[in-house]
Amino acid sequence: MIVDAHADLAWNALTFGRDYTRAVEETRANEISTDVPSHNGQTMLGYPDWVRGRVGIVFATLFAAPRRHKYGDWDTNCYDDADGARQIFLNSIDYYDTITQENSDKFRIISNLKQLETRVADWEASVDAPALGLVLSMEGADAIRKPHEVHEWHEWGVRIIGLSWSGTSYAGGTKEPGPISPAGYELLDEMANLGMILDLSHMSEEGALEALDRYPGIIIASHSNPHSRVPSYVPLERNLSDVTIREIASRGGVIGTVLYNPFLKDGWTPSSGQERVSLTDVAASMDYVCQILGNADHVGIGSDFDGGFGLADAPQDLDSVADLRLIGNELARLGYSESDIHAILCENWLRILRLGLPGV
Ligand SMILES: [Zn+2]
Repeated sequence: MIVDAHADLAWNALTFGRDYTRAVEETRANEISTDVPSHNGQTMLGYPDWVRGRVGIVFATLFAAPRRHKYGDWDTNCYDDADGARQIFLNSIDYYDTITQENSDKFRIISNLKQLETRVADWEASVDAPALGLVLSMEGADAIRKPHEVHEWHEWGVRIIGLSWSGTSYAGGTKEPGPISPAGYELLDEMANLGMILDLSHMSEEGALEALDRYPGIIIASHSNPHSRVPSYVPLERNLSDVTIREIASRGGVIGTVLYNPFLKDGWTPSSGQERVSLTDVAASMDYVCQILGNADHVGIGSDFDGGFGLADAPQDLDSVADLRLIGNELARLGYSESDIHAILCENWLRILRLGLPGV
């Protein structure tokens, strides 16, 4: 089984009407005459493809951009203030509730250990088409109007929270670097009381190091690559410094590798006509983190597929999420053992979930 720690499923459904019960090929065919691919690329995700690739668990986000970062007229799910953010994120919760109720054979929420182990058992039993497990993850916390409201989101099933996407009222973020605010520290305390998982992706280094200092619970970076491998990528704070990588690992955390070409090969830009990024580059990015740390215990996949890019900006040989397992072949070529490869593709994230999910 493979675990993928980042996919904006609700955002795609609410913004583009994408139906993830369908196969990648079907969605691509349906979107040929629409403008969706020009905004978010050709899809990489679909239930039959998760099954083909034996990708059994996805961290599924609640995400929206603040209006000041609106991508374009098509970007209908933007917010002006915390009330607006809350409404979109509630719509996202509704989406996950609906898709799991109407298609319980295909999608199930994972909000506790029992649900986790049921999903793992189904996938490991080689059932033909098990249901994909969704762990709800909030990307940017503006929807939490006051820190104590995080209790509500926890009740609604959210288990992972990142304070930032761009800057939020809780912390600086991508394109808007800065520290954790006083309200951000309060939110971290509330999250710690609930035993939630903290996601550092999109935080600037300043805030990430403060959070590592302060937060006593489980810490991850669901979708961030090593900055040292792509030093010219702007904004600089989108990826992780070697210092932050070491700190996350020393806290037992896991870092998800984003399968987006500009985060994998320095200087690569979309439509630049450059040689495509390969799976060798993906393995090299993972290997960089493992080499710094001296082990393979802190890297996983956080593909971010359909998160603002599609097929053309993903590494060649990855036609869809069904091909994630090919990354294992490249790691084997670098000398990684079978157990290390399994750790990277699956077990490291399962360890985090087993530590970070509540019993019931
Ligand atoms: Zn993101």
